[in-house]
Amino acid sequence: MAEWHSLDTDLVLERLGSRREGLSEAEAAARLAEHGPNRLVERRRRSPLLAFLEQFTEVMVIVLIVAAVISLFIGETVDAIMILVIVILNAILGFSQEYRAERAMAALRRLAIPTVKVRRDGQVVEAASEALVPGDVIVLDAGMRVPADGRLLESANLRIEEAALTGESVPVEKIRGAIAGDGVALGDRRNMAYLGTTVTYGRGLAVVTGTGMNTELGHIATMLQTVSEERTPLQGRMAELGKWLAIIALVIVGIVFVEGVVLAGEPLEEMFLVAVSLAVAAVPEGLPAVVTISLALGAQRMVRRRALIRRLPAVETLGSVTTICSDKTGTLTENRMTVTMLDVAGDSLTMSEYLRQAQPSLLRDDAAAAEEGAPPLDRDFGLLLAGAALANDATLQRDKAGSREFVAVGDPTEGALVVAAARFGLWKADLDEALPRVAEAPFTSERKRMTTVHRIPAADDPGGQAVGFLRDLAGAPWVAFTKGSVDEMLPVCDRVWNDGAIEPLSAEWLQRIQTANNHLADDGMRVLGVAMRPLDSLPDGPSEEALERELVFVGMTGMIDPPREEAGQAVAECRTAGIRPVMITGDHPLTALHIARTLGIVTDAEEAPRVVTGAELARMSVEELEEIVEGVGVYARVSPEHKVKIVEALKAKGHIVAMTGDGVNDAPALKRADIGVAMGVTGTDVSKEASDMILLDDNFSTIVNAVEEGRTIYDNIRKFVRYIISCNIGEILLMMLAPLMDLPVPLTAVQLLWINLVTDGLPALALGLEPSAPDVMRRPPHRPNESVLARGLGVYILWVGVVLGGLAFAAQVVGLQVLRTPAWQTMVFTTLGLVQMSNALSVRSERRSVFRIGFLGNPALIGAVLLTIVLQMAVVYVPFLQGVFGTQALTVGELGITVGLAVLLFVILEGAKALRRAAA
Ligand code: ATP
Repeated sequence: MAEWHSLDTDLVLERLGSRREGLSEAEAAARLAEHGPNRLVERRRRSPLLAFLEQFTEVMVIVLIVAAVISLFIGETVDAIMILVIVILNAILGFSQEYRAERAMAALRRLAIPTVKVRRDGQVVEAASEALVPGDVIVLDAGMRVPADGRLLESANLRIEEAALTGESVPVEKIRGAIAGDGVALGDRRNMAYLGTTVTYGRGLAVVTGTGMNTELGHIATMLQTVSEERTPLQGRMAELGKWLAIIALVIVGIVFVEGVVLAGEPLEEMFLVAVSLAVAAVPEGLPAVVTISLALGAQRMVRRRALIRRLPAVETLGSVTTICSDKTGTLTENRMTVTMLDVAGDSLTMSEYLRQAQPSLLRDDAAAAEEGAPPLDRDFGLLLAGAALANDATLQRDKAGSREFVAVGDPTEGALVVAAARFGLWKADLDEALPRVAEAPFTSERKRMTTVHRIPAADDPGGQAVGFLRDLAGAPWVAFTKGSVDEMLPVCDRVWNDGAIEPLSAEWLQRIQTANNHLADDGMRVLGVAMRPLDSLPDGPSEEALERELVFVGMTGMIDPPREEAGQAVAECRTAGIRPVMITGDHPLTALHIARTLGIVTDAEEAPRVVTGAELARMSVEELEEIVEGVGVYARVSPEHKVKIVEALKAKGHIVAMTGDGVNDAPALKRADIGVAMGVTGTDVSKEASDMILLDDNFSTIVNAVEEGRTIYDNIRKFVRYIISCNIGEILLMMLAPLMDLPVPLTAVQLLWINLVTDGLPALALGLEPSAPDVMRRPPHRPNESVLARGLGVYILWVGVVLGGLAFAAQVVGLQVLRTPAWQTMVFTTLGLVQMSNALSVRSERRSVFRIGFLGNPALIGAVLLTIVLQMAVVYVPFLQGVFGTQALTVGELGITVGLAVLLFVILEGAKALRRAAA
């Protein structure tokens, strides 16, 4: 690989055939075809054949195969072949279930591929990181995962943490100049950025030097990331339950075997086959797979509702969330900022009114608008807006190629300021050209402000004409502009701009500024202050402390950001669902409270709603916070580190917390929360990687939708657990009961395997597709660690299992002793198949009648039940299959009895629900 770090940037660009403006789309496409996508070669997947063969490694299945082979030798050919066929069918079922689950997860992973800001044809566009090619010019921002190897073209206090590559966890300060010398170690190549490392601070521009496997990370083959496949808590508990059920089932199977041989006098080898088949049928080996599928399919449904699950356990935990801590800006509000108020030294201006009077230019570059000209602007407001637009990283770009209209690109808060300035004829691009930026201290959520330093043009510099007034105002060769939250700025200001003059910041001024600030915030506005500082010399090193002191407070801007329309309803839904929404914001307490009131996060019923600020949080211990945490609905002026404290206090109080975050420093809080939620649109890569779930639309209501899906999935898992285990208990009981009552063993091995195949298969899967119950968001969340059998599920399984087995046994008694028909075994076999279908239909709701929830409400289940019934009939009536399954055609009367027994079970199940409802 070329020693890119040792070359000058111009030479690097030349060698890569690129320019500062970036490649053209056509060039990029051609290079993509040549170099291939920018991704690391994935670890080889388990081959489908291997996955299929693994299905045969279950102990019971192996025993069954061995048993089948033995019976083949002793002449039971049909039985043996049939057993093998069913074992293979079972394996196909298991394989396809696992395969589907795996594909669903892979599809989710593909969606999580990050996007990158890249310069193409001179414009900054968003592209998938996989589409990057050598020569692309990319923008590096704090919180971003570096998407490829690159040589830095610009570095504004850029710091990159390279632990993934060098093991060094202290971020490295990056520079843009060439570094001479051979054999410079990776960690010392301070003008390079490497794939897989993380930008922790600042900004930069880099030209891509290598992509995909042709990167430093790509060379370290062992470092290839693997996706950890964790087991969810429920899957864990399910496996535990399965183990116990298996042990119990095996003991009973042993009993049935002894009974069959001793009491019923069945031949030993036949009874052995029956016992092994019963074991296969009774052990719910399919449960974990079905659980995984419904979680994975549920995760896919969530994506359709804009929630991307990153860790499967989150699907489950979502169902038990009790508190949702949400950011305000962009999540509860639209993040469509518009500056509406300007305020300088006691003089305020309503933008709309002013612009209406002055008939301003639109944000267009056509001749008419230019002639109209921008409204004449007061000098003080001009300084305010120029400062706000200069200490600013947003840009104005043409709406679409060739369009005459402009839109702001970048952070919406900053965009609003750039737009406001442009409305008064102060175009950001002109300002930047006239007053070039020479140093900066980027915005952080902790300081809540940012500063840029600019060179003031000389008096005879023609470029400086447009902003000549600034030169006069500053009266120094350089000027620094700071913008940020007013309360974080006042402590670093010692003077104030008053009508063209600089005065000391007296207590009186302080009071006036704070009052004006509160006034704006009380109306729900986000207020940003602007300050400046004339500089006679540039401070050594662009440190924040050196830049942000002795400032002259210029004024403030108030901007509105409307609450999201759906958010109010989502908040209301939270309340009925027993979930408490909490707002956590970096904004002013009064701004936060205003929005919280509008959305119903705090209600008017609460007398003095408790708003806790970051400063108060910093003083409190976690224990002190625990005391009040359940009563606080709004946290304001919060820094990311406070979020961790809030999560801890809530968790200590037993809450299951979902917490949103988007910035670099939100990662610890996201990791600590039960559900870390990152923003898909505005979130940093770091926050996304720390999260369990990503909101593709940054929307609060998406979290609530995901909770609803989570609850539904959990409900559905409970449904098929109830269904499968109660059916299995029925089968075991039937097999145990008959010999005890001095009756022959009711079913053959093949019949048992058939029942297992058709009932555990499609109907169970279809139950996972049940739509949400209407009341899912009208009841409190379930406890996260509750047993699989909690809330009456265990009792249900037992009694339904007993009734189900009893009804099948009744079929045996009627067939054998009342009707004395030779088809008695077919009657038992068919009854067992049909009662299970009744069970599947009724199990759809724990309390409500299936007629109330809509008998046809789950078409997949209706289809699965009908198909199962048709197959069962085929096994009974098709002559070839009769030979295979040892069945006989049932007469109408006999069939009537089996159907009657199945209907009876349905009536019993629905009757029991009615009783429960009546008792409640
Ligand atoms: P939330 O946490 O709800 O998203 P937020 O967006 O206000 O709230 P931060 O981005 O941490 O949280 O911003 C905190 C404060 O910093 C804001 O209220 C504002 O006063 C100030 N601020 C935000 N963006 C900028 C910026 N680009 N430049 C200067 N100050 C800013």
